[in-house]
Amino acid sequence: MNFKELKLNKPIVRALFEKGYEEPTLVQERAIPVILHKKDIIVSAQTGTGKTAAYALPILQLLFDKQDAPKKGKKIRALIVCPTRELAIQIEENFKVYSAYTNLRTGVIFGGASIQPQKEMLKKGVDVLVATPGRLLDLHKQDIVNLDYVETLVLDEADLMLDMGFIDDVKKIERLCPDGKQTLLFSATMPYKVELLANSILKEPEYIEVSPTSSAAKGVHQVVYYVPKPKKIELCLHLLRNNIKGSVIIFRRTKYGVDKLEQTLLRNNYKAVSIHGDKAQSLRQQALNEFKKGEARILIATDVAARGIDIKNVDAVINFDIPNIAETYVHRIGRTARAGASGAALSFCSADEKAYVKDIQQLINLAIYVEEEHPYPLDPKAKPEVHKKKGSKHKKGRKSEASKKKKKRWY
Ligand code: AMP
Repeated sequence: MNFKELKLNKPIVRALFEKGYEEPTLVQERAIPVILHKKDIIVSAQTGTGKTAAYALPILQLLFDKQDAPKKGKKIRALIVCPTRELAIQIEENFKVYSAYTNLRTGVIFGGASIQPQKEMLKKGVDVLVATPGRLLDLHKQDIVNLDYVETLVLDEADLMLDMGFIDDVKKIERLCPDGKQTLLFSATMPYKVELLANSILKEPEYIEVSPTSSAAKGVHQVVYYVPKPKKIELCLHLLRNNIKGSVIIFRRTKYGVDKLEQTLLRNNYKAVSIHGDKAQSLRQQALNEFKKGEARILIATDVAARGIDIKNVDAVINFDIPNIAETYVHRIGRTARAGASGAALSFCSADEKAYVKDIQQLINLAIYVEEEHPYPLDPKAKPEVHKKKGSKHKKGRKSEASKKKKKRWY
């Protein structure tokens, strides 16, 4: 299938062609026709599947049919609500690219940044607004944002918005938009609370599930290192020196942990940058830009700060702390091996984190390869129990390609 068959107009197809998109991804193929029919939709898809374009393209197409010239006082006709500032910026960047050959205007608002430029942008008028919930409600209260003309409302990363405590804000925003609007809900996971929200606000939605959230990204070489907690930093330095060639994202559970690791890596002459919720927005954006441009080889992040962010060509992900929620592991390792490339996910597991590895293996239905040959072993006998479900992809005892090769491995 190609984009023309999806009935997208020439200016949009031209922008996609210039961006190098040759054909729609699966989520785009399935969601675009439904959205163009103005139906409500629930989409369960991870980042990396092309889900932003899956709603951005049909929204632009619907707006395109009734577009007018850029002018002051333009009404917001599509509203995208998402949990974090970085995501909001990224989504709006996508809209800008796809609408480059149209007259449609897009804008973005988020907290933690000066409100004045955002007010000025809104006064000029936009067709599409991407927003985080708090700043949106704030500007609505000040009468700067008018949601009376919203035709399409998108709730992106709905599960994370609920995890971050935005449920009341999201419901309030939904009520501020007109009754007859089309609502699109995108979520990486579909826990019960997301279903409840969907049931309360969507009208006869179509349900699309693209890849189960338990399936770890294809092409990711997953390895676990059992290591005493105090030795994790040494293991990290050892791998950066000897095994990891390119760019790396290192995940830590806490903001304090992120800062501490960044200082240690900088002291060891690694160009590292970091993002977490306590950092000013401008510093977070600066760090992301440096990492994206390759000026910094290492990005250290908490989960919330990094969720959904599209960073290309990441060679490896290090789980410095094992996430206590198994789904988080899937999100983290989805940063590498995007769009068919291969990558590595290296997880450092200390004695108190073994149960988390068990949970992860159960979720992804895969026994993660254990690298025993490293200088800081926890306990040579401390292999995790392999949890197999019916139809498990890896049989116990079957050696992976990595384990067959004894030579030093580069990621
Ligand atoms: P997302 O899941 O929206 O974060 O998108 C992941 C990445 O896929 C982004 O870098 C998009 O630019 C890219 N992408 C989206 N749709 C396509 C497509 N049809 N062909 C190639 N790349 C795409």
